[in-house]
Amino acid sequence: MLESGATLKRRDKKGPMAGDGGQAGHTPTTAAPAEGAPPATRRPRVFSGTQPTGALHLGNYLGALRNYVAMQETHDCVYCVVDLHAITVRQAKADLRRNSIDAANMFLAAGVDPQRSIVIVQSHVPQHSELAWILNTVAYMGELRRMTQFKDKTGGSESESVGVGIFDYPVLMAADILLYQADAVPVGEDQKQHVELTRDLAERFNNAFGKTFVVPEPIIPTAGARIMGLDDPARKMSKSAGSAYNFVSLTDSPDEIRRKIKRAVTDSGTAVRSGPDKPALTNLLTIYSLLAGEPVATIEARYEGRGYADLKRDLGDVVVDALAPFQRRMKELGDDKGFTLDVLRDGAERAEAIAARTMRKVRERMGFVPRP
Ligand code: ATP
Ligand code: MG
Repeated sequence: MLESGATLKRRDKKGPMAGDGGQAGHTPTTAAPAEGAPPATRRPRVFSGTQPTGALHLGNYLGALRNYVAMQETHDCVYCVVDLHAITVRQAKADLRRNSIDAANMFLAAGVDPQRSIVIVQSHVPQHSELAWILNTVAYMGELRRMTQFKDKTGGSESESVGVGIFDYPVLMAADILLYQADAVPVGEDQKQHVELTRDLAERFNNAFGKTFVVPEPIIPTAGARIMGLDDPARKMSKSAGSAYNFVSLTDSPDEIRRKIKRAVTDSGTAVRSGPDKPALTNLLTIYSLLAGEPVATIEARYEGRGYADLKRDLGDVVVDALAPFQRRMKELGDDKGFTLDVLRDGAERAEAIAARTMRKVRERMGFVPRP
């Protein structure tokens, strides 16, 4: 786990995705090209983003980041630190800066390979904002108002002081994805609705202006797509949760990890078993199973007749061990500040080449006068 072990190397300029094959409506293929021959079609493309709103947690890893790493084998990937999304909630200047670099480092430490994948900070590629504005003219108030995350984050209120950015967030997310003509979007369960909106906007635009965008598919893991808060198994684990006892951060020290797991709420009864009547235990067993690579049933059998305390103690060890290689790489990245900046510089250049091509097509389709 968390151990794809790619040594962190700067990218060879002639690596994949130097340019763009970005044709809307292409047929994705994962077939290997004949030896020595250039690929006949480009590999399918992935886009996914994570907000720099704090250290990533086990939910981010199991729901999304794990797939970021795995999909590099079959896809050309763009992984983005979505700072423009983060500012929909007020961010202190120093926090935004530090969290953005940290988030990029967490992608790299988890196994995103900057030689194969593009790693960017969203605000470095201005086309994200430009396309978001254009898609605003295609999106409907009603569909945005129905977004569960909008209702959750604003308490469902129609208050005068709810930020327009929180409301409009899914349109910016659609722009992020469509800009790169992404075929697939690895996300946790909470983002499925936003990817569906993205599909609707892509289809609506394509119908109105001619085929322009690839219509993307969400890629959601079968287990771990919705890791719940350790302090409240009714709500998902979140970076922006009120209490640090909600989550285990990927950068928490071994002591913090063990303490947080020990304090996790449990269900009534004593049996270590998952099920709809045991949401807290189901969550702990899911984390255990995914990080240890063992089926839940095997773990349940091992704790037959033993209590919650034993499970929590061992789960603490499982999480500490799973995170150790990741944390070692985070330390290396922290010691070489120039490395991440090089990755982001290179990423922005490669991303902008793709984004500019999409925007040329969008402007042409809509009838904007080309810049003389
Ligand atoms: P915030 O509270 O600031 O919204 P977050 O914890 O929800 O932060 P995001 O940056 O919004 O994290 O999401 C990054 C990725 O992690 C998304 O793909 C999202 O679907 C996934 N994700 C977030 N929380 C969970 C979770 N609890 N379980 C599984 N996947 C998750
Ligand atoms: Mg979120």
